[in-house]
Amino acid sequence: AHLARIAAVDEKVHAFLHVDREGALAQARAVDDKRARGEKLGPLAGVPLALKDIFTTKGVPTTVGSKLLEGWIPPYDATLTQRLKAADVIILGKTNMDEFAMGSSTENSAYGPTGNPWDLTRIPGGSGGGSSAALASYQAVLAIGTDTGGSIRQPAAVTGTVGVKPTYGGVSRYGMVAFSSSLDQGGPCARTVLDAALLHEAIAGYDPLDSTSIDAPVPSVVEAARNGNVAGLRVGVVKEFGGEGYQAGVMQRFNESVELLREIGAEIVEISCPSFDLALAAYYLIAPSECSSNLARFDAMRYGLRVGDDGTRSAEDVTALSREAGFGDEVKRRIMLGTYALSSGYYDAYYGSAQKVRTLITRDFEKAFESVDVLISPTTPTTAFPIGERADDPMAMYLADLCTIPSNLAGNAAMSLPCGLAPEDGLPVGLQIIAPAMADDRLYRVGAAVE
Ligand code: GLN
Repeated sequence: AHLARIAAVDEKVHAFLHVDREGALAQARAVDDKRARGEKLGPLAGVPLALKDIFTTKGVPTTVGSKLLEGWIPPYDATLTQRLKAADVIILGKTNMDEFAMGSSTENSAYGPTGNPWDLTRIPGGSGGGSSAALASYQAVLAIGTDTGGSIRQPAAVTGTVGVKPTYGGVSRYGMVAFSSSLDQGGPCARTVLDAALLHEAIAGYDPLDSTSIDAPVPSVVEAARNGNVAGLRVGVVKEFGGEGYQAGVMQRFNESVELLREIGAEIVEISCPSFDLALAAYYLIAPSECSSNLARFDAMRYGLRVGDDGTRSAEDVTALSREAGFGDEVKRRIMLGTYALSSGYYDAYYGSAQKVRTLITRDFEKAFESVDVLISPTTPTTAFPIGERADDPMAMYLADLCTIPSNLAGNAAMSLPCGLAPEDGLPVGLQIIAPAMADDRLYRVGAAVE
């Protein structure tokens, strides 16, 4: 049914870069066979999922939204891919994304944009717009995203779906193509809080192949999602997120959520996190710096596009020509910014200062969580904007992640879930819930209560 749905609508939506029809049917048959033999089935047996094209899939193309990796067939599965298979999930295919996960609209994909199913002339968010659009257009029941600065939560917000950035280190990064390693975090996307929780437990947990993987039990998120309640919980409203620059309808729905939380038993506290105003600036130094280092591996020698290798050129020239041809504008912008920020003479002023700001932001969170159990804010300042509107204005594009970036810098857990439609444009608004690191279960407990 889902393959038929994809065939019927994805020409318009363009959520998928690759539909693995044969692979999906083979997995489905394998689940049926297991069932017929009376074997124990995985916890998500037979549930169709859309996988962001940033995770390696053995024998199935993985492009990361880039021309540089067009046609590359990974020889191995990411840990997350392996865990999905172990859970007996059916992987329908690989979803569209901003190239190397750099963007907030999926317009930076080398393979063309994805439409927002609510209005195909608008963006589905990014970088994981393909995954969120697949959910919102009922092409998949579950999806996977990655969140470096908001790429799970912001697409969820603008498509009316649920997206969770687990605690940093909660889901393995092995086989997830690196953008900014100290920020990158894979996580679950779904249409309901409980569905997201079921997927969360299937993919989370320690992996010795990822040096920053957390070696501790996974928080009981499914139980929390089944027992949604906020009685006696202290909920902090982040003062810095709201007001000027925020769409009126977004603030209206957010304020209604605050009232709802109060009505169902939460205590609402206003919390100030003064360093959050610097988060965007710090992120756009740290993320490009790490990207400039991570993307150095694309040298046209080991894998991917190779241009100009005609026997007359040096390896350096072939590398340069291939990177020139294979990377898009935003990726080049980040590599140049990052290389500059890390260069001797500028390192302390830029990268060093950004790391100090990162510490201040982490301290703001620590202080806040001394007096509240979770923090809330709108997920994004506006609803989905028209395709093309911010394409030539990187600064306007970067503002889409204003409210999501602090959690990446601090490494804590955060969720976006739908909280109604903005009256002025009828488009979905997202509510963001933030919990301390390793307290991912609180997101689900609160999310299920207000869903
Ligand atoms: N939009 C942000 C960026 O462009 C975040 C991307 C992400 O989370 N992968 O970097």
